[in-house]
Amino acid sequence: MSRILPDERIVVAGAGGFIGGHLVRDLRARGVRNVRAIDVKPLDEWHQVISGVENRVADLRESHACADACEGMDWVFNLACDMGGIGFIETNKAACMVSVLINTHLLMAAQRQGVRGFFFASSACVYAAERQTTPDVVPLKESDAYPAMPEDGYGWEKLFSERMCRHFYEDFGMKSSVARFHNVYGPFGTYEGGREKAPAAICRKVIEAKLNGRSDIEVWGDGEQTRSFMYIDDCLTGIHLLTERDVREPTNLGSAELVSINQLVDIVEGIAGLRLSRRYRLDAPKGVRGRSSDNTRVRELLSWEPSTALREGIEETYRWIYDQMAKRR
Ligand code: NAD
Repeated sequence: MSRILPDERIVVAGAGGFIGGHLVRDLRARGVRNVRAIDVKPLDEWHQVISGVENRVADLRESHACADACEGMDWVFNLACDMGGIGFIETNKAACMVSVLINTHLLMAAQRQGVRGFFFASSACVYAAERQTTPDVVPLKESDAYPAMPEDGYGWEKLFSERMCRHFYEDFGMKSSVARFHNVYGPFGTYEGGREKAPAAICRKVIEAKLNGRSDIEVWGDGEQTRSFMYIDDCLTGIHLLTERDVREPTNLGSAELVSINQLVDIVEGIAGLRLSRRYRLDAPKGVRGRSSDNTRVRELLSWEPSTALREGIEETYRWIYDQMAKRR
């Protein structure tokens, strides 16, 4: 697709969310002058509202809203989705699948508009559960998504939307890049309310214990389930490289640093300077037993891979969440 030029016009869908908000900020920092930021949430609920940007509230499940969003635009970045951590996606499968309307209507509108490039945020949830049954999991490579048996609801929507991007490319020549994000975390992420993911949830629980003088923490599952977590800065670099280099095939964007949830709790406790006793809730949603990103393709294509050490990224995230919670006391 080649590099985004400073005078090109870019729409970021889902700009009120965690990654979308960071992407808008990053595009501005890279000198892009015309950014249209769109989200369904009222502006005062956006994670970040960046100045110098056209901020719009619209429901992108509607085709007319997508037509308006893409009007006059050169690039579309779709980060919009009704989603959350495992506690949300396991209990909101229909809502997750309805997000298919967002990508479908955005793709159609982008094609009619003749945009230069389209980016779709897919997920590691496209991979089959049967490949993720042990904590010492073999890292997932892109071809493992087929034969398809993704995460029910959320994963099916992502896999279907990936293929829709592919067929718009093949049939209509509409260039797109698709990243399969593996657990992105960082400042400005959701850390409470039911949609938060493990890194932010654990930071919040440890901070609650610290601020309230408690000595225990609830952990979902037995804590031996494993994941890799990608820091937001790596996610942004990956998005730019994938679009710039015109990578057509869905590509993992994730860290290869595998940790158990218990190790993640150890790291957060280390940053907080305390030790808590752990109450394991075995009936809580846990997701797959183990998951990590095979980065062979991303290294080959981009000569790069996400490399922020978990300890370093969690430290930034912890401090941001701590400040938010301390401010409210
Ligand atoms: P997020 O929930 O913070 O942001 C998504 C945004 O989309 C929200 O602000 C939401 O209001 C908005 N949205 C939902 N429905 C909409 C609609 N109908 N019209 C307009 N906006 C709508 O999530 P995020 O973590 O920033 O994730 C961004 C993208 O990356 C999503 O597609 C998500 O599935 C994908 N992803 C994220 C992760 C992760 O770990 N954060 C992992 C894999 C994939």
